[in-house]
Amino acid sequence: MVNKKEILESGLNLDNSYNNLPKLFFSEVNLNTVPSPKIVIFNNSLAKSLGLNSNNLKSKEGVSLLAGNKRIKEGIFIAQAYAGHQFGNFAILGDGRTVLLGEQITPLGERFDIQLKGSGKTPYSRGGDGKAALGPMLREYIISEGMYGLGIPTTRSLAVIKTGEFVFRQSREEGAILTRVASSHIRFGTFEYAYHMGTYEELEKLANYCLKRHFPHIKDKNDKYLNLLNEVIKVQASLVAKWQAVGFIHGVMNTDNMTISGETIDYGPCAFMDNYNPDTVFSSIDIQGRYAYKNQPIMAEWNLCRFAETLIPLLDKNKERAISIAQDAVSNFYDLYYLNWISNMRFKIGIFNQEEQDKVIIEDLLSIIEKYNEDYTNTFISLTFNNYEDKDIFKSKEFSNWYKVWKERLKRQPQSKETVAKLMKESNPAIIPRNHRVEDVIEAANKGDYNVMKKFLDVLSRPYDHSKDQEEYSKPPKVSDNNYRTFCGT
Ligand code: AMP
Ligand code: MG
Repeated sequence: MVNKKEILESGLNLDNSYNNLPKLFFSEVNLNTVPSPKIVIFNNSLAKSLGLNSNNLKSKEGVSLLAGNKRIKEGIFIAQAYAGHQFGNFAILGDGRTVLLGEQITPLGERFDIQLKGSGKTPYSRGGDGKAALGPMLREYIISEGMYGLGIPTTRSLAVIKTGEFVFRQSREEGAILTRVASSHIRFGTFEYAYHMGTYEELEKLANYCLKRHFPHIKDKNDKYLNLLNEVIKVQASLVAKWQAVGFIHGVMNTDNMTISGETIDYGPCAFMDNYNPDTVFSSIDIQGRYAYKNQPIMAEWNLCRFAETLIPLLDKNKERAISIAQDAVSNFYDLYYLNWISNMRFKIGIFNQEEQDKVIIEDLLSIIEKYNEDYTNTFISLTFNNYEDKDIFKSKEFSNWYKVWKERLKRQPQSKETVAKLMKESNPAIIPRNHRVEDVIEAANKGDYNVMKKFLDVLSRPYDHSKDQEEYSKPPKVSDNNYRTFCGT
């Protein structure tokens, strides 16, 4: 047990508001201890913003806390219950390998969940071992911090701890625990769980809790549940448009992996696209391409339909009317998504004002990049820096025609060349967590070398710097990564 003094020294300031929800929504968990926890990576800047004391948490005592070996006296560890539509099929799930330590109240008064992922079995583990392997936890750490660097809402990673035991996946791997930080871990699937397994009052309590925690500005409105639905539609429209703009493919957009807060969560088989191809799928289990790059907005809308269904009892006493309210709300998603997307894409090509033909200009560029099988990120970097390498795409008739149309378009706005260049630099990352780099980091880490990862994380934290020292990280893989496969066996 951690004593009061140790808690104060670590900076932990945990609340447990989620535990006040009805018992339906969680189970208390007694954590197993792990044999010899050791820090692999620790996020000092995140710790600081949370009000945590890095040195203290990196000490032997702190590590044993992050490994779940020590209980926090005030906190009750819980696993959260949820359901979800997995590849279209409904299932009862829940935290099978994560526990919530509590909600850290930061010096600025913000509230963040602190979770341990890979800490052992919970009542929701079903057949699983509740554990996680080092590689996938490092992958989540790197990609989530990369997403944060890109300015995309995401859960964050505070630490990865090696447990000193082995887990058995495709092969024997070192076990690890990731400390995950999120504005909450409430998922669409949490509402599906309430709708299917709970009473009206329990669903109402969950909805009110989310309003208070995530959307306090609408919590007292008359039509607050419709407002809740609209807010979730809004944050997801913005999120998925950001994914599309950087070429991020989540890979497993099941409703249990979509948050009410609009943060990206559950970095399993996700990956960034190198060459532009809208059909790109990385996940080995996504045989139908359900979650392919081009389908992400459509799947977000499908997921929002499942979320909206759970709110029907709260939207109106008359079921028919409630259904129609829900349908109307979700039918706004695609337009909202499109507005976010076109605005992101305009910025990527330096456009400030709006013209109807912008959509065609953007789509024409994308189809040229696709035709020439070129790197998505780096083509925008070429446009940003007017730096056209000796490549077929830039020598092609299509590109030179497009380029003229684009330059003409830029003239139809008042902004100077410098202002346009600045916008493009801020909108086009040079650095994304490319698959081959992530693999190199994990390979080195598996051999005990964590320096490759530290360097990469530094570069990922400032993807819009466009500095010389980062150049080698912007290179695509030597051989095309189109056949790269990610695995859910995390
Ligand atoms: P994910 O694919 O990580 O989104 O997980 C889907 C579901 O499987 C969730 O309910 C997880 O908690 C559960 N799960 C994943 N891996 C394990 C594991 N090793 N042990 C127990 N449950 C797991
Ligand atoms: Mg999940």
